[in-house]
Amino acid sequence: MTAFPAGGPELPQRRNLVTEIPGPASRELTARRAGAVARGVSSVLPVYVTAAGGGVLVDADGNSLIDFGSGIAVTSVGNAAPRVASRVAAQAAAFTHTCFMVAPYEGYVEVCESLNRLTPGTHEKRSALFNSGAEAVENAIKIARYATGRSAVVAFDHAYHGRTNLTMALTAKNMPYKQGFGPFAAEIYRVPMAYPLRWPDGPDACRAEALGVVKSLIHAQVGESNVAAVIIEPIQGEGGFIVPPEGFLAGLAAFCADNGIVFIADEIQSGFCRTGDWFACSHEGVVPDLITTGKAIAGGLPLAGVTGRASLMDAVHPGGLGGTYGGNPVACAAALGAIETMSAEDLAGRARRIGDVMLPRLRKLAGHFPVIADVRGRGAMIAVELTHPGTLEPDAAATAAVASACHKAGLAVLTCGTFGNVLRFLPPLVIGEDLLEEGLGILEDAFGTL
Ligand SMILES: *Cc1c(COP(=O)(O)O)cnc(C)c1O
Repeated sequence: MTAFPAGGPELPQRRNLVTEIPGPASRELTARRAGAVARGVSSVLPVYVTAAGGGVLVDADGNSLIDFGSGIAVTSVGNAAPRVASRVAAQAAAFTHTCFMVAPYEGYVEVCESLNRLTPGTHEKRSALFNSGAEAVENAIKIARYATGRSAVVAFDHAYHGRTNLTMALTAKNMPYKQGFGPFAAEIYRVPMAYPLRWPDGPDACRAEALGVVKSLIHAQVGESNVAAVIIEPIQGEGGFIVPPEGFLAGLAAFCADNGIVFIADEIQSGFCRTGDWFACSHEGVVPDLITTGKAIAGGLPLAGVTGRASLMDAVHPGGLGGTYGGNPVACAAALGAIETMSAEDLAGRARRIGDVMLPRLRKLAGHFPVIADVRGRGAMIAVELTHPGTLEPDAAATAAVASACHKAGLAVLTCGTFGNVLRFLPPLVIGEDLLEEGLGILEDAFGTL
């Protein structure tokens, strides 16, 4: 067995490169991997991790990289966060699995109570737990269809909801998520996203028109009374960190309420303090009927949830929802540790502070580099979109070049966007401000290499 160095917040919080990136140990693992791991599973960074904590990742060659990715918005409380690690260790020593559907345990109930308390709205709620975000989305759709007796589901351009068959159908982007994997689930209808930068005639027109366009398409092409659910990410994640104009989400929620349609907020990426509040819906006081959670919920262990109105959630017959591992006791222990950390360390406040540090520096950068067409996001969910200067033509090559230059310099950044032309920043919410500033400096230098 490989011995790992200790991680967590005690790990020295500094960038330190002792080899080129990737170093010899990572290159050797890449070669081994080619003979063992399916090619379809790819990785962003060329290095193999041996420890992580706070705002750093340590690789197999002993390099310390600054983490601006949090494993895709998962380790918001930091890697190996003390309250997560200690609860996981204690739970693993007590019991690792019974299956909640066979012999239940308190941790599952307690996570559901926390979800019911923390998600938007003071109405009576119930929750159910699953293993992955995609599985939570699938179950939210199952519940909405069951409760309404309707089958149509409306999703948006640029949406990302997962990689299972139903969630591939909900996801908008073909390559790499859907290419060659059809046929897809039926009764999914797609409508335009309120995407201010790319709305014909620009952001003001987007604010004025988007909701009306969506409503009239649903009316004309689906029929309100056929629609079980409208599902939307309050801030779209993989699609490019697209923030709809104020009022769009609230208008959509009101339209759903007027027509007996279940309004599902997919907060798998935006939830759990990432945007500077517990959930992104809260910024505008939007209360979804169902909300899906995942990613940051359990500090890195696989867990996801569906939370919503008791009347909808309790509509399904006993035994209609579940799964072998859903709400695994170790994952629930991790979630309770993560939620405790978010409250105790005011990580929503930390996310707002991260945004306050990042946004002005990125806007200044955009002033120097016209390849940056847009700087957007909320809290610690921030992105820049790159286009050929003076146009809206996506520049995926420049985006990849900047990301690669960052990786070589020891900064882990991720890209996203339907056109592959968005750099997204999702630092752990516990990152130190010196590392945050240093990471931004590396990013600025990377733009200088274009
Ligand atoms: C990541 C993500 C999912 C899928 O979650 P998995 O755990 O990868 O299945 C669904 N919706 C959104 C908004 C996501 O960001």
